[in-house]
Amino acid sequence: MPNPNRITERLFQSPSKYIQGPSAIHNAPKYLAAFGTAPLLLSDELVYGIAGKELTTTLEAAKFKVTRGIFGGEASKDEINRLTSLSKSHSVDFIVALGGGKTIDTAKAIADDLGLQVAVLPTTASTDAPCSALSVLYTPNGEFENYRFYSKNPNTVLVDTSVVVKAPYRFLAAGIGDAIATNLEAKSARNSPNFGGGLPTEVSAAIGAKCEEILFKYGKQAVEANKAGAVTPAFEAVVEANTLLSGLGFESGGLAAAHAIHNGLTAIHSEALHKMMHGEKVAFGTVCQLVLDNASSSEIDRYLELMTSVSLPVTLAELGIGQASDEELHRVAKLACAPNETIWNMDRVITPEIVFHAIRGADAVGRDYKARKGLKA
Ligand SMILES: [Zn+2]
Repeated sequence: MPNPNRITERLFQSPSKYIQGPSAIHNAPKYLAAFGTAPLLLSDELVYGIAGKELTTTLEAAKFKVTRGIFGGEASKDEINRLTSLSKSHSVDFIVALGGGKTIDTAKAIADDLGLQVAVLPTTASTDAPCSALSVLYTPNGEFENYRFYSKNPNTVLVDTSVVVKAPYRFLAAGIGDAIATNLEAKSARNSPNFGGGLPTEVSAAIGAKCEEILFKYGKQAVEANKAGAVTPAFEAVVEANTLLSGLGFESGGLAAAHAIHNGLTAIHSEALHKMMHGEKVAFGTVCQLVLDNASSSEIDRYLELMTSVSLPVTLAELGIGQASDEELHRVAKLACAPNETIWNMDRVITPEIVFHAIRGADAVGRDYKARKGLKA
């Protein structure tokens, strides 16, 4: 919806503090002391073993009274209500989210329900969820339910890169897939209201451009470092691009076709597709975005080279839906063009028919690139 209310204010929003480094968890007490003394530490069982125990020990040594909340796996209303009750009965005075996107989104909702501050400690660099003032909520069965918006961003985001580097490289690559869309979508949505309801500022445009620059310079190198378990300057730069720059960039810059087509893909019921990570589906959506933007062949090749170098999917077959029928892809296009979708932020004519052709066109471009480079289809 390109500026339906004739909004004239520019708006930029972000967390108050962002901290990133290989000893961030060790130094957490210093950064969390201003929030209170009795946190709820929300993490799933797996992440608790990887980083939660160490964080608890560190906080307890600094005299925090830690209540452990075990995240059940779905960012659903039931789960939020359960953990909100737990927090109340333990007189928790702030929330700490330790984990991936769904843990983080649940923690933001609990904090909002209780009027408390939330500190976000992402354990992967796979999404741009940590910095934003919104959650994606699901039914207990894992179907998309709604976006929930908050008046404040998480107060503090603390990224321990010695933990992030332990995650399989596929997570970092997926984060690159999500982050590579940021600049293209923000450019396309330049004249539409962002997630804060204002127009994008000059700084959000600069953040999107910097995000893309980092990914082209260091994306491949960072993924190789991740495979070797090495926290290098390139790795740090890409973690920052995926988490901070992409997070600020999408929220204050705006989204467009890449994420709308990602959402549209939920119209196809395929086990293989549903196993793909958010950023992997956004990567293919980004190829569609480029096609809709009428980018030149050499420009599209530049993006495809980066994506394929970190094993991101650029064709329907790589998303597990190589056999998708026209009827199925028409459903994807229709859902991508739902009334509230971000595709309407674009400064060009959009119809479900145009989007359907962009999806087929993107798949063709991806297949052609792989054939030319002798890559496995
Ligand atoms: Zn995203």
